[in-house]
Amino acid sequence: MSDIDNQKQQIVASVPQKGFFGHPKGLFTLFFTEFWERFSYYGMRAILVYYMYYEVSKGGLGFDESTALAIVSIYGSLVYMSGIIGGWLADRIFGTSKAVFYGGILIMLGHLVLSFPGNISLFFVSMILIVLGTGLLKPNVSSVVGDIYSPTDHRRDAGFSIFYMGINMGAFIAPLIVGTVGMNVGFHMGFGLAAVGMLLGLAVFMLTKKKNLGLAGTIVANPLSQAEKKKVFTTMGIAAVLLAILVAIAIPTGLLTFKTFIALVGVLGIVIPTSYFIVMYRSPKTTAVEKSRIIAYIPLFIASVMFWAIQEQGATILANYADKRTQLEFAGIHISPAWFQSLNPLFIILLAPVFAWLWVKLGNRQPSIPQKFSFGLLFAGLSFLVILLPAYIGGHSALVNPLWLVLSYLIVVLGELCLSPVGLSATTKLAPVAFSAQTMSLWFLSNAAAQAINAQIVRFYTPDTEMLYFGVIGGTAIVLSVILFMLAPKIEGFMKGVR
Ligand code: GLU
Ligand code: ASP
Repeated sequence: MSDIDNQKQQIVASVPQKGFFGHPKGLFTLFFTEFWERFSYYGMRAILVYYMYYEVSKGGLGFDESTALAIVSIYGSLVYMSGIIGGWLADRIFGTSKAVFYGGILIMLGHLVLSFPGNISLFFVSMILIVLGTGLLKPNVSSVVGDIYSPTDHRRDAGFSIFYMGINMGAFIAPLIVGTVGMNVGFHMGFGLAAVGMLLGLAVFMLTKKKNLGLAGTIVANPLSQAEKKKVFTTMGIAAVLLAILVAIAIPTGLLTFKTFIALVGVLGIVIPTSYFIVMYRSPKTTAVEKSRIIAYIPLFIASVMFWAIQEQGATILANYADKRTQLEFAGIHISPAWFQSLNPLFIILLAPVFAWLWVKLGNRQPSIPQKFSFGLLFAGLSFLVILLPAYIGGHSALVNPLWLVLSYLIVVLGELCLSPVGLSATTKLAPVAFSAQTMSLWFLSNAAAQAINAQIVRFYTPDTEMLYFGVIGGTAIVLSVILFMLAPKIEGFMKGVR
Protein backbone atom coordinates (compact mmCIF):
# COMPACT_ATOMS: atom_id res chain seq x y z
CA MET A 1 0.00 0.00 0.00
CA SER A 2 1.35 3.44 -0.92
CA ASP A 3 1.95 6.19 1.62
CA ILE A 4 -0.96 8.17 0.23
CA ASP A 5 -3.37 5.24 0.62
CA ASN A 6 -2.08 4.68 4.11
CA GLN A 7 -2.64 8.31 4.99
CA LYS A 8 -6.14 8.21 3.54
CA GLN A 9 -7.00 5.20 5.68
CA GLN A 10 -5.70 6.88 8.81
CA ILE A 11 -7.86 9.92 8.13
CA VAL A 12 -11.00 7.84 7.57
CA ALA A 13 -10.27 5.83 10.74
CA SER A 14 -10.08 9.05 12.76
CA VAL A 15 -13.56 10.23 11.72
CA PRO A 16 -16.53 8.77 13.66
CA GLN A 17 -18.22 6.87 10.83
CA LYS A 18 -21.81 7.29 12.07
CA GLY A 19 -23.82 10.06 13.68
CA PHE A 20 -25.35 12.21 10.93
CA PHE A 21 -28.23 10.52 9.10
CA GLY A 22 -26.22 7.32 8.90
CA HIS A 23 -23.20 9.26 7.58
CA PRO A 24 -19.87 10.12 9.22
CA LYS A 25 -20.22 12.71 11.96
CA GLY A 26 -17.84 14.98 10.07
CA LEU A 27 -20.54 15.56 7.49
CA PHE A 28 -22.51 17.47 10.16
CA THR A 29 -19.64 19.92 10.57
CA LEU A 30 -19.08 20.35 6.83
CA PHE A 31 -22.81 20.62 6.11
CA PHE A 32 -23.40 23.45 8.57
CA THR A 33 -20.17 25.29 7.83
CA GLU A 34 -21.06 25.38 4.13
CA PHE A 35 -24.72 26.06 4.91
CA TRP A 36 -23.77 29.26 6.74
CA GLU A 37 -21.08 30.25 4.24
CA ARG A 38 -23.59 29.96 1.37
CA PHE A 39 -26.16 31.80 3.52
CA SER A 40 -23.75 34.72 3.75
CA TYR A 41 -22.75 34.56 0.07
CA TYR A 42 -26.21 34.24 -1.45
CA GLY A 43 -27.69 36.66 1.10
CA MET A 44 -25.17 39.27 0.03
CA ARG A 45 -25.76 38.45 -3.66
CA ALA A 46 -29.52 38.83 -3.25
CA ILE A 47 -29.14 42.52 -2.42
CA LEU A 48 -25.78 43.39 -3.96
CA VAL A 49 -26.98 44.39 -7.41
CA TYR A 50 -29.70 46.61 -5.95
CA TYR A 51 -27.23 48.14 -3.48
CA MET A 52 -25.03 49.10 -6.42
CA TYR A 53 -27.60 50.64 -8.73
CA TYR A 54 -30.10 52.13 -6.25
CA GLU A 55 -29.70 55.86 -5.94
CA VAL A 56 -27.68 57.26 -3.08
CA SER A 57 -30.89 58.74 -1.62
CA LYS A 58 -32.25 55.20 -1.37
CA GLY A 59 -29.15 53.92 0.38
CA GLY A 60 -27.45 52.60 -2.76
CA LEU A 61 -24.18 53.49 -4.46
CA GLY A 62 -25.84 55.00 -7.53
CA PHE A 63 -23.93 53.04 -10.22
CA ASP A 64 -25.56 52.70 -13.60
CA GLU A 65 -27.40 49.41 -14.04
CA SER A 66 -25.18 47.94 -16.66
CA THR A 67 -22.03 48.58 -14.59
CA ALA A 68 -23.71 47.05 -11.54
CA LEU A 69 -24.64 43.90 -13.50
CA ALA A 70 -21.10 43.57 -14.85
CA ILE A 71 -19.59 43.98 -11.36
CA VAL A 72 -21.77 41.22 -9.92
CA SER A 73 -20.58 38.90 -12.72
CA ILE A 74 -16.93 39.85 -12.25
CA TYR A 75 -17.34 39.29 -8.54
CA GLY A 76 -18.90 35.86 -9.07
CA SER A 77 -16.17 34.95 -11.51
CA LEU A 78 -13.32 35.96 -9.21
CA VAL A 79 -14.92 34.16 -6.26
CA TYR A 80 -14.61 30.84 -8.13
CA MET A 81 -11.34 31.68 -9.86
CA SER A 82 -9.62 32.29 -6.54
CA GLY A 83 -10.41 28.67 -5.70
CA ILE A 84 -7.23 27.68 -7.50
CA ILE A 85 -5.20 29.75 -5.05
CA GLY A 86 -7.17 28.34 -2.11
CA GLY A 87 -6.73 24.79 -3.36
CA TRP A 88 -3.01 25.26 -3.88
CA LEU A 89 -2.43 26.85 -0.47
CA ALA A 90 -4.30 24.01 1.24
CA ASP A 91 -2.51 21.31 -0.72
CA ARG A 92 0.97 22.66 -0.32
CA ILE A 93 1.12 24.95 2.70
CA PHE A 94 -1.45 24.70 5.44
CA GLY A 95 -4.02 21.96 4.78
CA THR A 96 -7.74 22.23 4.12
CA SER A 97 -8.93 22.74 7.67
CA LYS A 98 -6.86 25.88 8.21
CA ALA A 99 -7.83 27.10 4.74
CA VAL A 100 -11.50 26.84 5.71
CA PHE A 101 -10.85 28.71 8.94
CA TYR A 102 -8.86 31.55 7.39
CA GLY A 103 -11.34 31.74 4.53
CA GLY A 104 -14.26 32.06 6.93
CA ILE A 105 -12.53 34.89 8.80
CA LEU A 106 -11.85 36.83 5.57
CA ILE A 107 -15.44 36.34 4.38
CA MET A 108 -16.85 37.51 7.69
CA LEU A 109 -14.62 40.59 7.63
CA GLY A 110 -15.71 41.27 4.05
CA HIS A 111 -19.38 41.31 4.99
CA LEU A 112 -18.59 43.29 8.12
CA VAL A 113 -16.92 46.03 6.05
CA LEU A 114 -20.10 46.27 3.97
CA SER A 115 -22.28 46.49 7.04
CA PHE A 116 -21.00 49.98 7.80
CA PRO A 117 -22.21 52.82 5.63
CA GLY A 118 -19.25 53.55 3.44
CA ASN A 119 -18.07 54.53 0.06
CA ILE A 120 -17.00 52.80 -3.11
CA SER A 121 -13.45 52.12 -1.86
CA LEU A 122 -14.79 50.19 1.11
CA PHE A 123 -17.01 48.28 -1.26
CA PHE A 124 -13.99 47.13 -3.24
CA VAL A 125 -12.06 46.25 -0.07
CA SER A 126 -14.95 44.04 0.97
CA MET A 127 -15.03 42.46 -2.47
CA ILE A 128 -11.34 41.51 -2.26
CA LEU A 129 -11.82 39.99 1.20
CA ILE A 130 -14.78 37.90 0.08
CA VAL A 131 -13.10 36.77 -3.16
CA LEU A 132 -9.99 35.57 -1.30
CA GLY A 133 -12.00 34.13 1.59
CA THR A 134 -14.32 32.13 -0.63
CA GLY A 135 -11.35 30.88 -2.66
CA LEU A 136 -9.91 29.49 0.56
CA LEU A 137 -13.12 28.09 1.97
CA LYS A 138 -15.38 26.80 -0.80
CA PRO A 139 -13.26 24.25 -2.72
CA ASN A 140 -11.58 23.06 0.47
CA VAL A 141 -14.69 22.47 2.54
CA SER A 142 -16.06 20.49 -0.43
CA SER A 143 -12.96 18.38 -0.79
CA VAL A 144 -12.99 17.41 2.91
CA VAL A 145 -16.37 15.79 2.20
CA GLY A 146 -14.49 13.36 -0.05
CA ASP A 147 -11.86 12.73 2.67
CA ILE A 148 -14.20 11.43 5.35
CA TYR A 149 -15.30 8.37 3.35
CA SER A 150 -13.13 5.42 2.44
CA PRO A 151 -12.70 5.15 -1.35
CA THR A 152 -14.94 2.08 -1.46
CA ASP A 153 -17.66 3.49 0.82
CA HIS A 154 -20.98 3.30 -1.03
CA ARG A 155 -22.36 6.26 1.01
CA ARG A 156 -19.96 8.64 -0.72
CA ASP A 157 -22.22 9.94 -3.51
CA ALA A 158 -25.13 10.27 -1.09
CA GLY A 159 -22.80 12.24 1.19
CA PHE A 160 -22.13 14.72 -1.59
CA SER A 161 -25.88 14.99 -2.26
CA ILE A 162 -26.57 15.79 1.41
CA PHE A 163 -23.80 18.38 1.32
CA TYR A 164 -25.34 19.85 -1.84
CA MET A 165 -28.65 20.12 0.04
CA GLY A 166 -26.83 22.11 2.74
CA ILE A 167 -25.56 24.53 0.07
CA ASN A 168 -29.04 25.05 -1.29
CA MET A 169 -30.75 25.30 2.10
CA GLY A 170 -28.39 28.13 2.98
CA ALA A 171 -29.00 29.70 -0.43
CA PHE A 172 -32.77 29.33 0.07
CA ILE A 173 -33.23 31.06 3.42
CA ALA A 174 -30.64 33.79 2.79
CA PRO A 175 -32.64 35.94 0.34
CA LEU A 176 -35.69 35.65 2.61
CA ILE A 177 -33.78 36.88 5.67
CA VAL A 178 -30.87 38.98 4.37
CA GLY A 179 -32.94 40.06 1.35
CA THR A 180 -35.96 41.16 3.35
CA VAL A 181 -33.95 43.04 5.95
CA GLY A 182 -31.61 44.50 3.32
CA MET A 183 -34.41 45.79 1.11
CA ASN A 184 -36.74 46.97 3.88
CA VAL A 185 -34.54 48.05 6.77
CA GLY A 186 -31.33 48.95 4.97
CA PHE A 187 -28.63 47.38 2.85
CA HIS A 188 -25.97 47.64 5.57
CA MET A 189 -28.15 45.82 8.07
CA GLY A 190 -28.56 43.06 5.45
CA PHE A 191 -24.80 42.75 4.90
CA GLY A 192 -24.41 42.70 8.70
CA LEU A 193 -26.66 39.64 8.84
CA ALA A 194 -24.51 37.96 6.21
CA ALA A 195 -21.51 38.55 8.50
CA VAL A 196 -23.41 37.01 11.42
CA GLY A 197 -24.18 33.99 9.23
CA MET A 198 -20.50 33.45 8.47
CA LEU A 199 -19.68 33.86 12.17
CA LEU A 200 -22.14 31.06 12.97
CA GLY A 201 -20.52 28.89 10.29
CA LEU A 202 -17.09 29.51 11.79
CA ALA A 203 -18.41 28.72 15.27
CA VAL A 204 -19.85 25.39 14.13
CA PHE A 205 -16.60 24.55 12.38
CA MET A 206 -14.30 25.43 15.26
CA LEU A 207 -16.45 23.88 18.00
CA THR A 208 -17.12 20.55 16.31
CA LYS A 209 -14.18 19.89 14.01
CA LYS A 210 -11.94 18.21 16.55
CA LYS A 211 -14.56 15.71 17.62
CA ASN A 212 -16.17 15.14 14.21
CA LEU A 213 -13.42 15.52 11.65
CA GLY A 214 -10.47 13.89 13.40
CA LEU A 215 -7.44 14.13 11.13
CA ALA A 216 -9.43 15.17 8.05
CA GLY A 217 -8.16 18.47 6.71
CA THR A 218 -5.14 18.59 9.02
CA ILE A 219 -2.63 16.86 6.77
CA VAL A 220 -0.87 18.87 4.08
CA ALA A 221 -1.18 16.61 1.03
CA ASN A 222 1.92 17.60 -0.86
CA PRO A 223 3.95 20.01 1.31
CA LEU A 224 6.49 22.33 -0.28
CA SER A 225 10.07 21.36 0.43
CA GLN A 226 12.36 23.94 2.01
CA ALA A 227 13.99 24.67 -1.37
CA GLU A 228 10.64 24.94 -3.14
CA LYS A 229 9.36 27.27 -0.43
CA LYS A 230 12.22 29.64 -1.00
CA LYS A 231 11.69 29.60 -4.74
CA VAL A 232 7.93 30.04 -4.50
CA PHE A 233 8.09 32.87 -1.99
CA THR A 234 10.73 34.73 -4.01
CA THR A 235 8.70 34.37 -7.20
CA MET A 236 5.52 35.47 -5.43
CA GLY A 237 7.31 38.45 -3.90
CA ILE A 238 8.65 39.57 -7.28
CA ALA A 239 5.28 39.03 -8.94
CA ALA A 240 3.51 41.08 -6.25
CA VAL A 241 5.97 43.96 -6.64
CA LEU A 242 5.67 43.86 -10.45
CA LEU A 243 1.90 43.79 -10.22
CA ALA A 244 1.88 46.74 -7.81
CA ILE A 245 4.14 48.74 -10.17
CA LEU A 246 1.98 47.84 -13.14
CA VAL A 247 -1.21 48.92 -11.37
CA ALA A 248 0.46 52.10 -10.12
CA ILE A 249 1.36 52.98 -13.72
CA ALA A 250 -1.83 51.73 -15.34
CA ILE A 251 -4.37 53.61 -13.21
CA PRO A 252 -3.07 57.19 -13.59
CA THR A 253 -2.27 56.68 -17.28
CA GLY A 254 -5.83 55.51 -17.86
CA LEU A 255 -4.79 52.02 -19.03
CA LEU A 256 -6.56 50.28 -16.19
CA THR A 257 -10.13 51.43 -16.33
CA PHE A 258 -13.19 49.56 -15.26
CA LYS A 259 -13.70 48.49 -18.86
CA THR A 260 -10.20 47.08 -19.29
CA PHE A 261 -10.54 45.29 -15.96
CA ILE A 262 -13.71 43.56 -17.14
CA ALA A 263 -11.93 42.57 -20.34
CA LEU A 264 -8.97 41.29 -18.34
CA VAL A 265 -11.17 39.05 -16.19
CA GLY A 266 -12.80 37.82 -19.40
CA VAL A 267 -9.39 36.81 -20.77
CA LEU A 268 -8.38 35.15 -17.48
CA GLY A 269 -11.67 33.25 -17.44
CA ILE A 270 -10.64 31.53 -20.66
CA VAL A 271 -6.85 31.42 -20.29
CA ILE A 272 -6.77 29.81 -16.83
CA PRO A 273 -8.86 26.71 -17.64
CA THR A 274 -7.13 26.35 -21.03
CA SER A 275 -3.71 26.34 -19.36
CA TYR A 276 -5.01 23.86 -16.81
CA PHE A 277 -6.01 21.48 -19.59
CA ILE A 278 -2.68 21.87 -21.38
CA VAL A 279 -0.66 21.30 -18.21
CA MET A 280 -2.72 18.24 -17.27
CA TYR A 281 -2.50 16.80 -20.78
CA ARG A 282 1.23 17.28 -21.10
CA SER A 283 2.21 16.22 -17.59
CA PRO A 284 4.45 13.12 -17.55
CA LYS A 285 2.33 11.90 -14.64
CA THR A 286 -0.75 11.67 -16.89
CA THR A 287 -1.26 8.20 -18.39
CA ALA A 288 -2.58 7.49 -21.91
CA VAL A 289 -6.03 6.54 -20.59
CA GLU A 290 -6.13 9.73 -18.54
CA LYS A 291 -5.20 11.77 -21.62
CA SER A 292 -8.15 10.35 -23.44
CA ARG A 293 -10.39 11.26 -20.49
CA ILE A 294 -9.12 14.84 -20.54
CA ILE A 295 -10.19 15.05 -24.19
CA ALA A 296 -13.63 13.77 -23.16
CA TYR A 297 -13.84 16.33 -20.39
CA ILE A 298 -13.26 19.35 -22.67
CA PRO A 299 -16.71 19.38 -24.38
CA LEU A 300 -18.33 18.73 -21.00
CA PHE A 301 -16.46 21.69 -19.55
CA ILE A 302 -17.59 23.93 -22.41
CA ALA A 303 -21.18 22.82 -21.92
CA SER A 304 -20.85 23.56 -18.24
CA VAL A 305 -19.61 27.09 -19.00
CA MET A 306 -22.67 27.70 -21.19
CA PHE A 307 -24.97 26.30 -18.52
CA TRP A 308 -23.60 28.42 -15.66
CA ALA A 309 -23.60 31.50 -17.89
CA ILE A 310 -27.39 31.21 -17.99
CA GLN A 311 -27.90 29.94 -14.43
CA GLU A 312 -25.80 32.73 -12.90
CA GLN A 313 -27.72 35.40 -14.81
CA GLY A 314 -30.54 34.49 -12.44
CA ALA A 315 -28.70 36.72 -9.97
CA THR A 316 -27.97 39.54 -12.41
CA ILE A 317 -30.22 39.97 -15.45
CA LEU A 318 -33.20 38.19 -13.93
CA ALA A 319 -32.70 40.01 -10.62
CA ASN A 320 -32.88 43.23 -12.59
CA TYR A 321 -35.92 41.90 -14.44
CA ALA A 322 -37.58 41.10 -11.09
CA ASP A 323 -36.99 44.66 -9.94
CA LYS A 324 -37.89 46.56 -13.11
CA ARG A 325 -40.13 44.44 -15.29
CA THR A 326 -42.23 42.43 -12.82
CA GLN A 327 -45.49 43.15 -10.97
CA LEU A 328 -44.41 43.07 -7.37
CA GLU A 329 -47.89 43.59 -5.93
CA PHE A 330 -49.26 40.14 -6.41
CA ALA A 331 -52.06 38.11 -4.82
CA GLY A 332 -52.44 40.80 -2.15
CA ILE A 333 -48.82 40.81 -1.01
CA HIS A 334 -45.84 42.96 -1.79
CA ILE A 335 -43.06 40.78 -3.15
CA SER A 336 -39.47 41.80 -2.51
CA PRO A 337 -37.42 41.45 -5.71
CA ALA A 338 -34.69 39.77 -3.63
CA TRP A 339 -37.02 36.85 -2.83
CA PHE A 340 -36.78 35.55 -6.40
CA GLN A 341 -33.26 34.45 -5.53
CA SER A 342 -34.76 31.82 -3.22
CA LEU A 343 -36.55 30.10 -6.07
CA ASN A 344 -33.55 28.33 -7.58
CA PRO A 345 -32.41 26.70 -4.33
CA LEU A 346 -36.03 25.97 -3.34
CA PHE A 347 -36.63 24.03 -6.54
CA ILE A 348 -33.28 22.26 -6.10
CA ILE A 349 -34.27 21.12 -2.60
CA LEU A 350 -37.69 19.94 -3.78
CA LEU A 351 -36.55 18.24 -6.97
CA ALA A 352 -33.14 16.77 -6.09
CA PRO A 353 -34.74 13.72 -4.42
CA VAL A 354 -36.97 13.22 -7.49
CA PHE A 355 -33.95 13.19 -9.80
CA ALA A 356 -31.99 10.90 -7.47
CA TRP A 357 -34.95 8.51 -7.52
CA LEU A 358 -35.24 8.77 -11.29
CA TRP A 359 -31.58 7.85 -11.90
CA VAL A 360 -31.85 4.88 -9.55
CA LYS A 361 -35.07 3.74 -11.18
CA LEU A 362 -33.61 4.00 -14.68
CA GLY A 363 -30.52 2.12 -13.52
CA ASN A 364 -28.54 1.08 -16.57
CA ARG A 365 -31.01 2.74 -18.90
CA GLN A 366 -30.26 6.21 -17.54
CA PRO A 367 -28.72 8.76 -19.92
CA SER A 368 -24.92 8.84 -20.11
CA ILE A 369 -22.94 11.72 -18.58
CA PRO A 370 -22.64 13.69 -21.88
CA GLN A 371 -26.36 13.15 -22.53
CA LYS A 372 -27.22 14.50 -19.08
CA PHE A 373 -25.05 17.53 -19.82
CA SER A 374 -26.92 17.97 -23.07
CA PHE A 375 -30.25 17.97 -21.17
CA GLY A 376 -28.77 20.49 -18.76
CA LEU A 377 -28.09 22.85 -21.66
CA LEU A 378 -31.45 22.23 -23.23
CA PHE A 379 -33.32 23.28 -20.09
CA ALA A 380 -31.04 26.27 -19.55
CA GLY A 381 -31.80 27.43 -23.10
CA LEU A 382 -35.53 26.89 -22.61
CA SER A 383 -35.49 28.91 -19.39
CA PHE A 384 -34.30 31.92 -21.39
CA LEU A 385 -36.76 31.34 -24.23
CA VAL A 386 -39.60 31.24 -21.70
CA ILE A 387 -38.69 34.61 -20.23
CA LEU A 388 -38.70 36.08 -23.72
CA LEU A 389 -42.40 35.29 -24.10
CA PRO A 390 -43.94 37.95 -21.84
CA ALA A 391 -42.35 40.70 -23.94
CA TYR A 392 -43.47 38.91 -27.10
CA ILE A 393 -47.04 38.74 -25.82
CA GLY A 394 -47.36 41.99 -23.91
CA GLY A 395 -44.61 44.28 -25.22
CA HIS A 396 -41.69 45.47 -23.14
CA SER A 397 -43.28 48.27 -21.22
CA ALA A 398 -46.08 46.42 -19.42
CA LEU A 399 -45.18 44.86 -16.06
CA VAL A 400 -44.99 41.10 -16.21
CA ASN A 401 -46.76 38.50 -14.09
CA PRO A 402 -44.17 37.13 -11.60
CA LEU A 403 -45.17 33.56 -12.45
CA TRP A 404 -43.16 33.86 -15.69
CA LEU A 405 -40.03 34.33 -13.64
CA VAL A 406 -41.00 31.45 -11.37
CA LEU A 407 -41.37 29.25 -14.45
CA SER A 408 -38.00 30.32 -15.82
CA TYR A 409 -36.24 29.58 -12.50
CA LEU A 410 -37.99 26.20 -12.37
CA ILE A 411 -36.85 25.19 -15.86
CA VAL A 412 -33.22 26.10 -15.27
CA VAL A 413 -33.25 23.93 -12.16
CA LEU A 414 -34.34 20.91 -14.22
CA GLY A 415 -31.13 21.47 -16.16
CA GLU A 416 -29.07 22.15 -13.06
CA LEU A 417 -30.05 18.79 -11.61
CA CYS A 418 -28.95 17.03 -14.82
CA LEU A 419 -25.62 18.82 -14.89
CA SER A 420 -24.37 20.12 -11.55
CA PRO A 421 -24.15 17.05 -9.26
CA VAL A 422 -23.25 14.90 -12.27
CA GLY A 423 -20.52 17.33 -13.30
CA LEU A 424 -18.88 17.36 -9.91
CA SER A 425 -18.66 13.61 -9.73
CA ALA A 426 -17.64 13.34 -13.42
CA THR A 427 -14.79 15.79 -12.75
CA THR A 428 -13.46 13.64 -9.92
CA LYS A 429 -13.61 10.57 -12.16
CA LEU A 430 -12.18 12.09 -15.35
CA ALA A 431 -9.34 14.20 -13.91
CA PRO A 432 -5.88 12.57 -13.85
CA VAL A 433 -4.98 11.12 -10.43
CA ALA A 434 -1.93 13.38 -10.12
CA PHE A 435 -4.28 16.37 -10.25
CA SER A 436 -7.07 14.94 -8.13
CA ALA A 437 -6.58 17.41 -5.27
CA GLN A 438 -7.31 20.29 -7.62
CA THR A 439 -10.39 18.80 -9.24
CA MET A 440 -12.82 20.84 -7.13
CA SER A 441 -11.12 24.02 -8.28
CA LEU A 442 -11.18 22.76 -11.87
CA TRP A 443 -14.93 22.25 -11.74
CA PHE A 444 -15.51 25.71 -10.25
CA LEU A 445 -13.43 27.19 -13.08
CA SER A 446 -16.31 26.43 -15.45
CA ASN A 447 -18.51 28.70 -13.36
CA ALA A 448 -15.73 31.30 -13.18
CA ALA A 449 -15.36 31.28 -16.97
CA ALA A 450 -19.12 31.57 -17.36
CA GLN A 451 -19.39 34.63 -15.16
CA ALA A 452 -16.31 36.17 -16.78
CA ILE A 453 -18.14 35.90 -20.10
CA ASN A 454 -21.33 37.23 -18.53
CA ALA A 455 -19.48 40.35 -17.44
CA GLN A 456 -18.78 41.06 -21.12
CA ILE A 457 -22.30 40.40 -22.38
CA VAL A 458 -24.66 41.79 -19.72
CA ARG A 459 -24.25 45.28 -21.16
CA PHE A 460 -26.21 44.17 -24.24
CA TYR A 461 -29.29 43.75 -22.07
CA THR A 462 -31.87 46.51 -21.90
CA PRO A 463 -35.66 46.16 -21.76
CA ASP A 464 -35.69 47.21 -25.44
CA THR A 465 -33.29 44.48 -26.50
CA GLU A 466 -34.48 41.81 -24.10
CA MET A 467 -36.16 39.56 -26.66
CA LEU A 468 -33.07 39.46 -28.81
CA TYR A 469 -30.84 39.01 -25.75
CA PHE A 470 -32.75 36.07 -24.27
CA GLY A 471 -33.37 34.62 -27.72
CA VAL A 472 -29.74 34.59 -28.85
CA ILE A 473 -28.36 33.20 -25.58
CA GLY A 474 -31.17 30.67 -25.11
CA GLY A 475 -30.91 29.63 -28.76
CA THR A 476 -27.12 29.16 -28.53
CA ALA A 477 -27.55 26.89 -25.52
CA ILE A 478 -30.09 24.77 -27.38
CA VAL A 479 -27.88 24.46 -30.46
CA LEU A 480 -24.94 23.41 -28.24
CA SER A 481 -27.22 20.94 -26.49
CA VAL A 482 -28.09 19.27 -29.80
CA ILE A 483 -24.43 19.15 -30.90
CA LEU A 484 -23.44 17.63 -27.56
CA PHE A 485 -26.19 15.04 -27.81
CA MET A 486 -24.94 13.99 -31.23
CA LEU A 487 -21.34 13.83 -30.03
CA ALA A 488 -22.29 11.90 -26.87
CA PRO A 489 -21.36 8.40 -28.12
CA LYS A 490 -17.98 9.68 -29.30
CA ILE A 491 -17.31 11.42 -26.00
CA GLU A 492 -18.26 8.26 -24.12
CA GLY A 493 -15.66 6.40 -26.14
CA PHE A 494 -13.00 8.84 -24.98
CA MET A 495 -14.12 8.41 -21.37
CA LYS A 496 -12.60 4.91 -21.31
CA GLY A 497 -15.06 3.18 -19.08
CA VAL A 498 -16.00 6.10 -16.78
CA ARG A 499 -19.76 6.16 -16.32
N1 GLU B 1 -24.77 27.00 -6.78
C1 GLU B 1 -23.53 26.31 -6.67
C2 GLU B 1 -22.89 26.54 -5.33
O1 GLU B 1 -22.95 27.58 -4.77
C3 GLU B 1 -22.69 26.85 -7.78
C4 GLU B 1 -21.27 26.32 -7.80
C5 GLU B 1 -20.91 25.47 -8.99
O2 GLU B 1 -20.47 26.00 -10.00
O3 GLU B 1 -21.05 24.23 -8.88
O4 GLU B 1 -22.28 25.64 -4.80
N1 ASP C 1 -28.31 26.22 -6.99
C1 ASP C 1 -27.20 27.03 -6.56
C2 ASP C 1 -26.08 26.13 -5.99
O1 ASP C 1 -26.13 24.91 -6.17
C3 ASP C 1 -27.65 28.03 -5.52
C4 ASP C 1 -28.28 29.31 -6.09
O2 ASP C 1 -28.10 29.63 -7.26
O3 ASP C 1 -28.93 30.04 -5.31
O4 ASP C 1 -25.52 26.40 -4.99
